[in-house]
Amino acid sequence: MSAGAAVAVVRRAAELRAAADAVRAQGGAVGLVPTMGYLHEGHQSLVARSAADNDLTVVSVFVNPLQFAEGEDYGAYPRDLDRDRRRCAEAGAGLVFAPPTEEMYPQAPVTTVAVQGLNAVLEGRFRPSHFDGVATVVAKLFAMLGPGRAYFGEKDYQQLAVVRRMAADLSLPVEVVGCPTRRESDGLAMSSRNVYLTADQRPAATVLWRSLQAGREAVEAGSRSADEVEAAMAEVLAAEPAASPDYAAVVDAATLERPDALAGALRLLVAARLGRARLIDNIGVDCDRL
Ligand code: AMP
Repeated sequence: MSAGAAVAVVRRAAELRAAADAVRAQGGAVGLVPTMGYLHEGHQSLVARSAADNDLTVVSVFVNPLQFAEGEDYGAYPRDLDRDRRRCAEAGAGLVFAPPTEEMYPQAPVTTVAVQGLNAVLEGRFRPSHFDGVATVVAKLFAMLGPGRAYFGEKDYQQLAVVRRMAADLSLPVEVVGCPTRRESDGLAMSSRNVYLTADQRPAATVLWRSLQAGREAVEAGSRSADEVEAAMAEVLAAEPAASPDYAAVVDAATLERPDALAGALRLLVAARLGRARLIDNIGVDCDRL
């Protein structure tokens, strides 16, 4: 299929499995990029990475009701499958899996994947059932396709940690590959939800990136106090009237636990609401490599 054309779409798990089995029968490797669609360059960077590593790259496009709570944006979440198919082709995908909800959940599931510990911090405190929904749908996608590798963005850092841990805990035969965050030129992390921002809110949305920079600068200036670094981040968020912050946090990059005395590889994470958009972002800072 030539770049710019649209990638074929399958809607049924049986068709998906048949396409992957045909590739595997020839000794080929299959990669999966799970998404909720409305694809941007961030998603495309995951697809391109998978296309470089595998013989067939499948992009799943599914707005998963299980990971949205009552009152969140499940109904409003932007959808454009035709555009997604073109973007997938540009980036080197071989197939789009866009199942209807009843294909993923033919009956209300009584068996789900429950996340503990990692679910109790950061996003989990604001979205208590979110990661159970994510883990459940990712486990189902892994079961349907059987990918050798699956690609997730560091943009959703806690999600990446949850999926890595799920694959390890459940002995799933999938290599989970983390990919760097793609940003707009002013630092705003690309996100399907950026479409919710009004023209007035769009410049203000760089406050997440600015807050992360303030946290990084505090560590680089020698602070090893989590309280101090978080205060530096929170101050930037508080100074932006268009934003309502949910959290500004510094955690150990591997465990997501909050150390009092900062050391080693850290992750700085922020979340804030701007109008209809709830945005998250994060960066890494390594105290041993400053
Ligand atoms: P979503 O469609 O928002 O569920 O995202 C699908 C995948 O794309 C997830 O693994 C995200 O972490 C990843 N992703 C989203 N935004 C970005 C970005 N700006 N850069 C890199 N990866 C991203």
